Amino acid sequence: MTNMTKTITLPTVPREFGLYSNGKWVAPQGRNLFERRSPAHGVPVTRTIVGTESDLNTAVASARTAFEDRRWAGLTGQQRAEVLLKAASLIRERAEELAMLETFETGKPISQSRGEVLASAGIYDYAAGAARMLHGDTFNNLGDEMLGLVTREPIGVVGLITPWNFPFFILAERLPFILASGCSVVAKPSDLTSTTTLIMAEILTKAGLPDGVFNVVTGSGSTVGEALSHHPDIDMLSFTGSTAIGKRVLAASAGNFKKLSLELGGKNPHLIFADAHLEDAVDGVIFGFCFNAGQCCVGGSRLLVEKSILPKFEQLLTQKLSRLRVGDPLNAQTQVGAIVNEKQHQIIHDYIERGLKQKARIVTQGTMSTSAEGLFVQPTVFSDVTSDMDIATDEIFGPVLAILPFETMEDAIRIANDTIYGLSATIWTQNLSTAMRAVRSIRAGCVWVNTTISGGPEMPSGGFKQSGIGRETGLYGVEEYTEIKSTHIALGPRTHWVS
Ligand code: NDP
Repeated sequence: MTNMTKTITLPTVPREFGLYSNGKWVAPQGRNLFERRSPAHGVPVTRTIVGTESDLNTAVASARTAFEDRRWAGLTGQQRAEVLLKAASLIRERAEELAMLETFETGKPISQSRGEVLASAGIYDYAAGAARMLHGDTFNNLGDEMLGLVTREPIGVVGLITPWNFPFFILAERLPFILASGCSVVAKPSDLTSTTTLIMAEILTKAGLPDGVFNVVTGSGSTVGEALSHHPDIDMLSFTGSTAIGKRVLAASAGNFKKLSLELGGKNPHLIFADAHLEDAVDGVIFGFCFNAGQCCVGGSRLLVEKSILPKFEQLLTQKLSRLRVGDPLNAQTQVGAIVNEKQHQIIHDYIERGLKQKARIVTQGTMSTSAEGLFVQPTVFSDVTSDMDIATDEIFGPVLAILPFETMEDAIRIANDTIYGLSATIWTQNLSTAMRAVRSIRAGCVWVNTTISGGPEMPSGGFKQSGIGRETGLYGVEEYTEIKSTHIALGPRTHWVS
């Protein structure tokens, strides 16, 4: 525990990483490198290889060989579980190193990175159990002459494309379940935040994962990601990212009919009914739109408040927001760190301008730093927003909240569902029947009642509508990575077709 409290300092020289293919590092020397600067401090922190299509092809070939010779798929669930449990314990051993890299590259507070790394270790533990739970079915009711078996098999070689907002945690929500199923993997993390995924490859090898089962190719989405989505030797693709790129991946996958798991964007509503515990709701709303500086796919960026309590709610919200600690992610007290890069910082700035131009009422307008000061954004809250405004419809991915008042339950549900997305929703009420009517009516893959952005590996995640296809995590998550085979076994003498 002592190393968890030590002061963090920025590296004086950026750390260099190679690619991870076939159980070995491919050295960065002599390669074209991408330099990542800390978005909070502007200094270079890591360098990674700008991977090419040829790097990707090599990694896919390794994964294919590893899958076909059954060095992993042919093991027992218990053997796979042992590797995942060992990996969880190695993550804990390297937790501080992983948390630091995560904070350097993403700009998120160090306390949050530490929490995410340790929570990730817990997911590997859980997935170890899932490796032993996979089973099929039998049909003994097909008559005396027939027995039916339904078995699950690993789907094959999986491409895994992950975003920059929770690089290590999102990897943990997918990778151990894919491995639990017996598949081989080629991962392509976001080029902004690839190094913790690379370290995970090293950890898995040390934990006993056979060479070639997990490979990581760094590089840009437009080269490596695009090639992975088109690759004829990839059987399934798990993509987490924006809805716009998700559509490209969907189209690219048609070439060989890859199975897809897509976890995409959201414009998630919080519904505050007049009987809600207001202090709790205010706290949850702030957490919902400011956690990870608002760069959170399930964060609540639309706030639907019953009209009768709107003034009181806005007052409590403003008071509490003034106490939120935004700043240097290396400071253990910081709650909201930096925005990931200048592009995202500019997008947030432009949406705030559009909110002002479209005449939404400002409740609090946060300041934005210049890039020389580090990429920080104080939270901004707009009220009297209408469903046609850009800040009500678009996923901004920053700490910007749009308040839309409602009068009746029907109103609230209509507004909540008036979006192309369906990732998550949060309901605040002390009335059980109000809560359950709302839960039933809202079209979203995840609904929280009187809490938000909480959960564990038991619960699947995924979206309705344009928020995605399929489910990740938990037993549902493992099953996504399997194919189902029906085997019909004749037990009696054959009645001949041709006499
Ligand atoms: P992007 O869609 O831009 O990128 C996601 C990943 O796809 C990155 O690894 C990126 O690589 C890669 N990529 C980019 N272009 C292509 C391409 N043409 N083909 C294949 N892969 C490509 O999303 P962001 O990284 O900007 O993440 C933010 C978005 O992700 C938000 O919209 C958010 O809602 C969504 N998201 C959804 C989550 C969910 O669980 N539903 C979780 C987290 C985020 P590179 O960065 O190297 O270009």
